Amino acid sequence: MKANDFYSLKSKLDIAGITLVAVSKTKSESSIRSLYDLGQRHFGENYVQELIDKHAHLPADIHWHFIGHLQRNKVKFIAPFIHLIQSVDSIKLLQEINKQALKNKRTIDVLLQVHIADEATKFGFDEAELTSIVSDLGQFPNVHVRGLMGMATFTDDAEKVGREFDGLKKIFDRLNVDGILNLDTLSMGMSADYDMAIEHGSTMVRIGSLLFGARE
Ligand SMILES: *Cc1c(COP(=O)(O)O)cnc(C)c1O
Repeated sequence: MKANDFYSLKSKLDIAGITLVAVSKTKSESSIRSLYDLGQRHFGENYVQELIDKHAHLPADIHWHFIGHLQRNKVKFIAPFIHLIQSVDSIKLLQEINKQALKNKRTIDVLLQVHIADEATKFGFDEAELTSIVSDLGQFPNVHVRGLMGMATFTDDAEKVGREFDGLKKIFDRLNVDGILNLDTLSMGMSADYDMAIEHGSTMVRIGSLLFGARE
């Protein structure tokens, strides 16, 4: 994306109070550096090894987000520095994040991933599971659940995508209204559907190909 296009996207999001996470998976350190030089600070990665390498080589003030399926035995490698783990999809993972956060004498911010799409391959909780997890969160004092993350079905059917985002927003609101959680982050929207996600109440968008060009 050209610098001017980036600035106009970024200022549009800033005005609306929406955090832009630049999804840099598979992209080179130099392309991350270019966006960093335009002022971008939040970057999202899906693969632990790739994230570790990039974290080691790139500026220390980058806020790294983990947005892919996270294996429990890899949590320890990102626990010292991760800014937000967006893809928590099991209680056992939550347990492990809590353990590694404690070891690193920190609290780790996370989002719970919610399954809103048709695709069976997309990870995440359903609403009933979420409701039951909420009552267990006291067991994980070193984890701070900031909100929810979801991915809509990959389809041209805009109404369907809208319904899925709307469903996620309603779950988010219900968890907040019930008062047990105080959620401030609703991560939904990617390159193809971020406008629609924002219409439905997103506070954080995860944008890859629009910023960096198509992935291989
Ligand atoms: C790859 C990825 C994105 C970004 O997708 P684009 O379509 O390139 O914007 C966002 N969220 C998750 C979870 C991803 O894996």
